[in-house]
Amino acid sequence: MSRPVQYNLNSESKVKIVKEAPEGFPGEGFFATSLNKVVGLGRQNSIWPLPFATSCCGIEFMATIASHYDIARFGAERVGFSPRQCDLLMVMGTIAKKMGPVVKQVYLQMAEPRWVIAIGACASSGGIFDTYSVLQGIDQVIPVDVYVPGCPPRPEAIIDGFMRIQELVGEESLRRRNGEKYKELMGSYGIQ
Ligand code: SF4
Repeated sequence: MSRPVQYNLNSESKVKIVKEAPEGFPGEGFFATSLNKVVGLGRQNSIWPLPFATSCCGIEFMATIASHYDIARFGAERVGFSPRQCDLLMVMGTIAKKMGPVVKQVYLQMAEPRWVIAIGACASSGGIFDTYSVLQGIDQVIPVDVYVPGCPPRPEAIIDGFMRIQELVGEESLRRRNGEKYKELMGSYGIQ
């Protein structure tokens, strides 16, 4: 049975292309492009996710990394549980207010560059739990790059969110994290 999601399949060749070459100037024995694009290409195809799963959405993530949906096709099979070695924080599930500082601490322990994806209604907005004890979205404690809607989102939606993160990672300027705008964003979360 074929897999439900095909990615970058070159119909004219039997070779499966992992990723097209970035824009540049090809020549005899060389290919010239910008450093930004080469670094972006490497980063976007070797993301190391850190799953922060607290409830039902985490089960969808388990399906996403298993063989049927197989997030390894995107270069992200190396799921890590040490924040110091990961560059994508995937928050899945209801985050209680008490847990907010823990999410933030995990984020702070990740080295730059780091990205965050809020998976499901709970992580994005508190979901159906509009109560005194639930954080109404993790963007109250850390900046979020991509939100995946759904309660729960299907693995296809998680993969779609992941591919959007890949786009962001691939297009990000190497100077972004030293810029004033980024410092301002971090400052708004009390992060130096
Ligand atoms: S969004 Fe829905 S499925 Fe996901 S953790 Fe919240 S209640 Fe569970």
